[in-house]
Amino acid sequence: MSEKKKIGFYWCGACGGCQVSILDIDEMILDVVEQVDIVFWPCAMDPKYEDVEAMEENEIDVMFINGSMRMEENIEMVELLREKAKKVVAYGSCSVNGGLFGLGNLSTKDRLLEKGYTTKTTDEGPFPQRSSSVKEGELTLPELTEHIVPLEEIIDVDHHLPGCPPLPNQLEEAFPALLDDETEVGKYDLVSDKSVCDVCPMEREEKKIEKLNPIQNVYLDPEECILDQGVLCMGPATAGMCDAACPEVGHPCVGCNGPVKNVKDQGSRMSSALASVIGAEGEEKKTEEEVMEVMKSIRDPTGSFYMFSLPSSIMQFRRGDLDE
Ligand code: SF4
Ligand code: SF4
Ligand code: SF4
Repeated sequence: MSEKKKIGFYWCGACGGCQVSILDIDEMILDVVEQVDIVFWPCAMDPKYEDVEAMEENEIDVMFINGSMRMEENIEMVELLREKAKKVVAYGSCSVNGGLFGLGNLSTKDRLLEKGYTTKTTDEGPFPQRSSSVKEGELTLPELTEHIVPLEEIIDVDHHLPGCPPLPNQLEEAFPALLDDETEVGKYDLVSDKSVCDVCPMEREEKKIEKLNPIQNVYLDPEECILDQGVLCMGPATAGMCDAACPEVGHPCVGCNGPVKNVKDQGSRMSSALASVIGAEGEEKKTEEEVMEVMKSIRDPTGSFYMFSLPSSIMQFRRGDLDE
């Protein structure tokens, strides 16, 4: 019998959903556990930094890293884990594309702290200090990074497995392939080249849209394409590994898988998809001003088009003066 593979899971700036998703594969977890030894999983074990440091180079066969690179500590850990792992998998959209927390790139780290601790809290608590003296000694907090970047901008990544979080059907494909030395898996092979529209049960007719409406203002016909009904759905620009899980139950896709394979910028892809349907039936072309007018009906274009992928987009973060 071949030796068990050693695997690890690590979370950086994360919500916990990616960790829970690992348990979401029901009885398949038993097959996985039979094939592997989980040698590092802070969520379930209590390993110390020194334990990782003491590992041999390449000791971990497959290391799954989720969450965003929000703190200097995240960077230190992923660099260390890279040394200890043969393969690194960027697990979940935060790790692959910067994810939801990547929208923080529209602000500066100082502003985020200021907003979080001085304007939005209900309790008046202390503003976090980098260093505090307690009777046991000096406690320090890790520094926030200037901006969130995808994991692959920090370390070499062998495989991308996006999703917020990746769904059981993705893991059922990914785990056996990644754990089998005979199966070749390319870096982007776990990202679909089909969009959510391509796998959606609703047929998109690319009907002309005069403006986009908030979902709460529209009685959606469950049989008809959501975008055709004038409600923003990110299906045309989003990778479809989820089998269109959201539109299938009547909710627009919000883009959580990030862009389709080989597409760099999810937001640009969505803008092009929208530009081709904006206008009145029978009208050949809108003027640029008219297109802008329709675009204004999207309440938060950057937040909507790049909800999960701002750090991996061409824009990456807000540049220049932030004064409103
Ligand atoms: S990808 Fe989604 S589920 Fe995973 S850590 Fe990020 S926000 Fe949470
Ligand atoms: S409902 Fe959304 S995902 Fe489905 S076809 Fe329409 S735009 Fe595409
Ligand atoms: S339909 Fe869109 S938002 Fe829903 S799981 Fe799929 S990619 Fe994510």
